[in-house]
Amino acid sequence: QVENLKGKLLDQAQEVNRLHSELGGTDLEKHRDLLIAENEHLKQDMKSCEAELQKLKKQHVKCIDCEHIQENARLQERLAQLQLEVEEAKGRLSELDLEVQQKTNRLAEVELRLKDSLAEKAEEEERLSRRLRDSQETIASLKAQPQQIKYIIKTVEVESSKTKQALCETQSRNQYLQEQVGMQRQVLKEMEQQLQKSEKTAAQLRAQIMMYESELEQTHGQMLEEMQNMEDDKNRAIEEAFARAQVEMKAVHENLAGVRTNLLTLQPALRTLTNDYNSLKRQVRDFPLLLQEALRNAKAEIGQAIEEVNSTNRELLRKYRRELQLRKKCHNELVRLKGNIRVFGRVRPITKEDGEGPEAANSVTFDPDDDAILHLMHKGKQVSFELDKVFSPQATQQDVFQEVQALITSCIDGYNVCIFAYGQTGAGKTYTMEGTPENPGINQRALQLLFSEVQRKASDWGYTITVSVAEIYNEALRDLLGKEPQEKLDIKLCPDGSGQLYVPGLTEFQVRSVEDINKVFEFGHSNRVTEYTSLNEHSSRSHALLIVTVRGLDYSTGLRTTGKLNLVDLAGSERVGRSGAEGSRLREAQYINKSLSALGDVIYALRARQGHVPFRNSKLTYLLQDSLSGDSKTLMMVQVSPVEKNTSETLCSLKFAERVRSVELGPVSRRAELGSWSSQEHLEVTNQPRAAQPSIRTHSSPSSGTPLRRAGSFRRKLQTSG
Ligand code: ADP
Ligand code: MG
Repeated sequence: QVENLKGKLLDQAQEVNRLHSELGGTDLEKHRDLLIAENEHLKQDMKSCEAELQKLKKQHVKCIDCEHIQENARLQERLAQLQLEVEEAKGRLSELDLEVQQKTNRLAEVELRLKDSLAEKAEEEERLSRRLRDSQETIASLKAQPQQIKYIIKTVEVESSKTKQALCETQSRNQYLQEQVGMQRQVLKEMEQQLQKSEKTAAQLRAQIMMYESELEQTHGQMLEEMQNMEDDKNRAIEEAFARAQVEMKAVHENLAGVRTNLLTLQPALRTLTNDYNSLKRQVRDFPLLLQEALRNAKAEIGQAIEEVNSTNRELLRKYRRELQLRKKCHNELVRLKGNIRVFGRVRPITKEDGEGPEAANSVTFDPDDDAILHLMHKGKQVSFELDKVFSPQATQQDVFQEVQALITSCIDGYNVCIFAYGQTGAGKTYTMEGTPENPGINQRALQLLFSEVQRKASDWGYTITVSVAEIYNEALRDLLGKEPQEKLDIKLCPDGSGQLYVPGLTEFQVRSVEDINKVFEFGHSNRVTEYTSLNEHSSRSHALLIVTVRGLDYSTGLRTTGKLNLVDLAGSERVGRSGAEGSRLREAQYINKSLSALGDVIYALRARQGHVPFRNSKLTYLLQDSLSGDSKTLMMVQVSPVEKNTSETLCSLKFAERVRSVELGPVSRRAELGSWSSQEHLEVTNQPRAAQPSIRTHSSPSSGTPLRRAGSFRRKLQTSG
């Protein structure tokens, strides 16, 4: 057994030695160094390739945009790619290097341990062999001494078991070591495999590089070939061009000869051309002067033409203005012929307020053939009156307005207009002037008409319309649109010396629409209402004035016009009981009587063209002075109640009307100086009709057959009566 063991040990030692030599780190290191060297070599190769490439590039830098350059670029790209790959391979190689290093380290460790265990084993062996020798010696000595030997054998046997045990241990250790060696072998094998792999990749890389090199070479070859081709082409082209040039040159020489001969003939032509050119130059030099001359002439002609047009325009404008003036003059003449003071009568219908019975019976009749005649039954007698126009109870507000609208529009042309409503309280003055909301009177309709007219003329004229509302009560003028309606206003002469009158502080509202007018009227009414408890009572005792001013500008001529429309709802003309009235009622009556008489006087004086017109006798006439005089137009609307109980007042009103109207316009009438008359005086006349009274015609009956005598007969009467 010992022999066997020894043999085995020897084997193992040999094996270990072999392994040691096999596993020697030097091999791997050598391999690595080899790889590194190879790598280095490859790098150098690559560098030389790059250098060559560079050189090639330089050589072919001239050949721009040729296929080869593109090819080259492609190749370079690929080269860069390959370089990248090489770089990667290098990285991998270094990784592998690292791994090999690690493994070598581990191997060294294992070797060390192996050496240790071998040393141990050698030691053990030594020990065992020593003991064996001892044992053999003892066995020999024991053989010599059999007794002793038996004992010794026994001990040896005993000791042999111990040796056996130690052998077992050694075997197990050996086993362990063998296992270790197996493991190391495994590791070695793996490393070898890895090495093979990296060798393979290196070989691949080498092959790739070879491939690229060959490609490069190929490209280079192609490039060279191409260059050669191009060189050939160039040479060929040069040769061709040279040949062509020679041919052309020959032709040019021939031409030159022809041209030379031509030149000889052209010289005289050139001479004539030069002459022409010189003369043209002269002309061109003179041209601006000629042009200036022509321009001057043209300008002068145009200027003259413009001047002519201007003068024609001026002439036309002058004529237009003259025509305008003529028109105004004609209009004035027409108005003068027609009489610019007109008197209308309006009979209101019988209302519920008139009551019933004989007192409320109708006493007014009309002439079916003449709308200027009105008959009144008074105390059993029929009295007839002739006015400019009479409206029956059936006449509508529109009918009335129809007759006055020409008057109203004339204020747009710059005329002053006055429309008065005259008559006893309850005769319909307010109805005619203001009307009802659903059936408005002259005031609202007039303003509406003015608006539409102004709009119609808007392309040629610019107009502004302003409105003032005032009242005269007990000879005091009040502004109903003002902040202080109770304040009494004065009428003053304009300080500019024009002789015009004005009312300082009288409010003027500019109106642009019907809504504006309504607002103004409402405001005026509210001022009247807040101040007085019994509106009806008060309104019948005061004159209400609506003053509309129309200012116009003619865009074409710059002509400015101002027209005033005065719409006056007069105080009731009825007489206050002749006796019994006292205090404030008497004062009111006196004031009203005075102002209405003054109005009558003024109108009378105006129609009679008297030198002196007594405007200053009342506030009303003084205020309306410039709207009553000159070429102003006046309309007196005499309101009449048709019922029996009012006949005496009706008679008074109609007499007043006819008297105003019938003043003659001829030279005789102008001389006729009638004194001032009052409504009271009228009254007296009514009771005793006299033939001398110029305007009153009394008929015992309308059917008496006596035809009505018109203006002509009255004129005669007036003349005879003086
Ligand atoms: P005045 O202002 O003269 O005192 P009004 O205008 O107040 O008189 O009229 C008195 C009454 O008669 C009112 O109720 C009014 O509506 C009515 N009236 C007056 N004229 C007419 C007319 N033409 N048609 C219908 N009613 C009228
Ligand atoms: Mg009234």
